[in-house]
Amino acid sequence: MTVRARSAAVREPGKTADRSCMLFPWPGEAGRAFAQSFWRFPMTRIILSLILIASGTFAAERRAKNVILFLGDAGGIPTLHAASLYKHNHPQKLFLQSLPYIALSDTSAADAWVTDSAAGMSAIVTGQKTNNGVISQSAAAVRGKRDGEVLQTILEHAEQRGLSTGVLTNMVITDATAAACYAHSNDRSRAGEIFAQVIRPRFGDGVDVLIGAGRDRVIESTAKLGIQVESALREKGIAFRDSLAAISDQDRRVAALFNTHDFDVSDAVRRAIRILSKNRKGYFLMVEWDAHTDNLRRGLEQVIQLDAAIRETASMTGPDTLILFTADHSFDLRVRGGKAGQPMLPEEGTQAPAKARPAIRVDDGHTGEQVLVAAQGPGAERVHGFLTNADLFHIMMAAYGWDKTGAAISGRAAR
Ligand SMILES: [Zn+2]
Repeated sequence: MTVRARSAAVREPGKTADRSCMLFPWPGEAGRAFAQSFWRFPMTRIILSLILIASGTFAAERRAKNVILFLGDAGGIPTLHAASLYKHNHPQKLFLQSLPYIALSDTSAADAWVTDSAAGMSAIVTGQKTNNGVISQSAAAVRGKRDGEVLQTILEHAEQRGLSTGVLTNMVITDATAAACYAHSNDRSRAGEIFAQVIRPRFGDGVDVLIGAGRDRVIESTAKLGIQVESALREKGIAFRDSLAAISDQDRRVAALFNTHDFDVSDAVRRAIRILSKNRKGYFLMVEWDAHTDNLRRGLEQVIQLDAAIRETASMTGPDTLILFTADHSFDLRVRGGKAGQPMLPEEGTQAPAKARPAIRVDDGHTGEQVLVAAQGPGAERVHGFLTNADLFHIMMAAYGWDKTGAAISGRAAR
């Protein structure tokens, strides 16, 4: 389109006034005189043409080939703040607190101000808020009773277009956050029904890389539905592994499920990206790390681990990768004291003096205030201001260059 417009401009030198409106927005004689002298010289026309071509190419390359969504489950702003003080004895020292684009995201569910992980993550990956307890179905769903419409997730959009996809979590792989990426159910507790959708996906060939906890839970819950997991996965070309170390670089598709929540998130992300990045079309990866602080020290340690993994990922992925961090909801934690140079928690294995007020106070529960969204990479500039969880789906779709009906936003993105 720009090529045709340019050659028309060269053939019709009489229409400089129109072009001055387009290219030189200041009004009156000065603008017109400048525009006329500008267009009179062929060299300026050539230079301008080259700038237009270059900027068009640059804009097209700003599409994301890959999107990695890091999800701190219950990792609200107070928890991130406490983790920075705990680890660095200084505010805002987490790597994710240095990401260039940030926004505040409302996390409410369709039916409640305080969301659970099911409705929270469903909104993030489908672009629509739904009811608590529901996995990637519309708000017409009634938990445990009635289905809503199936809402196609960002992972399923990627599958439909032939990208590789991955879900990584240190929680149970059928739990709400992970499930919302690859499954649809009116009840988050139906582990068998949820995992069966790895084997019988609606879009593409289904998730390619699954890493998470809950190995026995998956085996038992699918067995009740008559599915023998290992052979069913093998038939789909998915290797069934029981440790991170057992994942082979030759695996093109893998489900690595463990009976522990403790493994190295950085190592897991590295292995997932090594497999997913073999696909020249690109990939989508969701990484969930548990940041609930009902066990305060463990929760903060896990935020630190996730932050290190985000730092490493940001340094190893190229400029074609959008990296996003957010939380599905916040948690009832408050920094109530503490000083520079003093530890935020008592030394491990010791008890704080009975009368000492803890620097960090925690009540056990989700909270409804807004959470941080932080991003870098192509499409990250859309992360600003006040958002809702459902906006993140559209931000990821736009970063890939896809619109929500499934067509590419422009011709270039369809490649
Ligand atoms: Zn959650």
